[in-house]
Amino acid sequence: MAGSSRAPTPAVRAATPGDAVGDLVPAQVAEPSDTEELSLVLAEAAREGSTVAVRGGGTAQDWGPAPRALDLLVDTGKLSWIDHDPGDLVVEAGAGTPVAELYTHLAGKGQRLSYDPVRAGGTIGGAVATGASGPRRLLHGALRDLVIGMTVVRPDGVQARSGGRVVKNVAGYDLAKLHTGGYGTLGAIASVAFRLQPEPPALRLVEAEYGSRAEAEQALAAVRESTVVPSAVEVSAGPDSALCLQVVVEGTHDGLRPRTEQAAQALGAHARVLGELPSQWGHRPSEGPLAWLSLPPAESVEAAARLGRRVRVGGCAPRGALHLSWPQGTPLEEIASVLEEARARPEWSVQLVRAHPEPVPAVDRWGRIPGLPLMRAVKDAFDPDHRFAPGRGTGGI
Ligand SMILES: Cc1cc2nc3c(=O)[nH]c(=O)nc-3n(C[C@H](O)[C@H](O)[C@H](O)COP(=O)(O)OP(=O)(O)OC[C@H]3O[C@@H](n4cnc5c(N)ncnc54)[C@H](O)[C@@H]3O)c2cc1C
Repeated sequence: MAGSSRAPTPAVRAATPGDAVGDLVPAQVAEPSDTEELSLVLAEAAREGSTVAVRGGGTAQDWGPAPRALDLLVDTGKLSWIDHDPGDLVVEAGAGTPVAELYTHLAGKGQRLSYDPVRAGGTIGGAVATGASGPRRLLHGALRDLVIGMTVVRPDGVQARSGGRVVKNVAGYDLAKLHTGGYGTLGAIASVAFRLQPEPPALRLVEAEYGSRAEAEQALAAVRESTVVPSAVEVSAGPDSALCLQVVVEGTHDGLRPRTEQAAQALGAHARVLGELPSQWGHRPSEGPLAWLSLPPAESVEAAARLGRRVRVGGCAPRGALHLSWPQGTPLEEIASVLEEARARPEWSVQLVRAHPEPVPAVDRWGRIPGLPLMRAVKDAFDPDHRFAPGRGTGGI
């Protein structure tokens, strides 16, 4: 965009080393203050043929490979606003709105986005673009299920709206789903509308540790057969920690009593009950290599017990959505070997999300990706010149 004879695009400044994404320092940073400005910035980038990446809070810029090229970084910090309709249990927020700020706003009205606490500093756009979901996905759905509408600006600068602000509103293709977990490879998210839930008045966490996989599997089966209706059922294990199940139940104080008792019975004699979530509940380690593992739910405990001897494993057992995390500095060979062990099971799919240093070619970051040709065709349709975060998407798209 530098050197253009056109009128200067609004809100663009020279980049500094602090704006680097991986090893790439962009030439310029755009800080649009509304969707119109975002459109102007991206239309100009399209005319110039500039490569583009989007930054929200910058807490997950190291998720996925760094883009292959970067001329313009679009910072969404000024796209921060909240439009809440408590009566309809929906909220729309600008992409740059900090998730924590949205949570505080909703809590003041007795409502919540059931997405789970996230690392301080993350924005709505970043949360949706990374598509990660927390423990409460079990009852309320993954983040993508909570999205009911989205405004995006396409790589050519054209604004597109998908869905809306009523809960049942999708006719035709649900394009918002493509941008959820898209890592900003198909366009820039300008705002997102979500469905909400009332904040339950009370919560209990029931947890137990197990000496054997069989005991834990039995306990999980008992929870699933019960009428506990948990909000979350997390399994965890690691080289320094026991195989553990945690069940979260939420509701009214009176209603919780029998459900908590049932959950404790299902988890077994050593179950203990806590009145609140431990700090860092649901957090993924913010440093060190990180991988997502998805597998048939019935095999979650087996995966935690087996891989937990070598790597920290955690996640939503009844959904088969787990994550693996290693301490910073773990040799890449060890990570590759764990990935191989998981991939030896044809129905287990594992992708390395974050690694420092970047994996050498010997480490297969993605494994087998069903539907990759279709994903490539989607990228070609949305971003024909592959200017948006080239290389960052699944399979290096
Ligand atoms: C339950 C749970 C717990 C978590 N715990 C942790 C934790 O402990 N530590 C941790 O590091 N992370 C954690 N995360 C992930 C955390 O949600 C992300 O770090 C955060 O949401 C990313 O937001 P950000 O604004 O910092 O994004 P950025 O880091 O700025 O961007 C992340 C990616 O999204 C893209 N992007 C950002 N905004 C947009 C947009 N408007 N349009 C298009 N693409 C965009 C970027 O290009 C980049 O690819 C957790 C997630 C969940 C669900």
